[in-house]
Amino acid sequence: MKTIGLIGGMSWESSSLYYSIINKEVRRLLGKSHSASCIMYSFDFQGIEEKQYAGQWEELEAEMVEAGMKLKSAGADFFVLCTNTMHKLMDHFEEKTGLPFLHIADVVAEEMAKDGLKTIGLLGTKFTMGEDFYKKRIHERYGMTVLVPDERDQEDVNRIIYKELVRGVVKEESRTKYEEVIDRLMERGAQGIILGCTEIGILIKKHRCPLYDTTPLHAAKAAEMSVQV
Ligand code: GLU
Repeated sequence: MKTIGLIGGMSWESSSLYYSIINKEVRRLLGKSHSASCIMYSFDFQGIEEKQYAGQWEELEAEMVEAGMKLKSAGADFFVLCTNTMHKLMDHFEEKTGLPFLHIADVVAEEMAKDGLKTIGLLGTKFTMGEDFYKKRIHERYGMTVLVPDERDQEDVNRIIYKELVRGVVKEESRTKYEEVIDRLMERGAQGIILGCTEIGILIKKHRCPLYDTTPLHAAKAAEMSVQV
């Protein structure tokens, strides 16, 4: 079995889900008392959030690579970054660390492409929705059109992630807000929605529009990769 190097703590609310899903999936795949071989480096999210908002991306990239190297020397065979947003910094990660990296956007986009979707909606942090690194990758590699909420909705979606979900706060009114944002993306033609922030699945699990939650999809793929010989 391969050892998964998990870069987590962004936030730990979702990293704990990764740990649980990966172990359950390995048991499902291998049976008996099997569980995952994995190592997690878990960041203190306060420092990460402050640097994101201050635009200190180079520093953050160096921190991700450093975490990766620690995991590599502890025995990791490949990497999983337990957050969508920080994938903004991962273009040269494989080169810099010398190990394979399982990109979260590829995992979710492959699933949506398999289901025949052509136009999809994306929810996530303001960095994931507003910048190009995620949308462009999906459009270029999988040919899908990626819609994001309008500016006002993006602000609400982002605020709820940083002020509530990463802090373990789940509010009914925020769930309603997300449902309304998804309704509006559907009206614009979205056939499915990426829950493109690893904590969104804590808030909303179902909608009449199919939801593609990055956390369980990414974690299950990591488990599958780890048991391949
Ligand atoms: N976990 C979130 C994500 O998937 C947001 C936290 C972060 O900025 O890393 O994007």
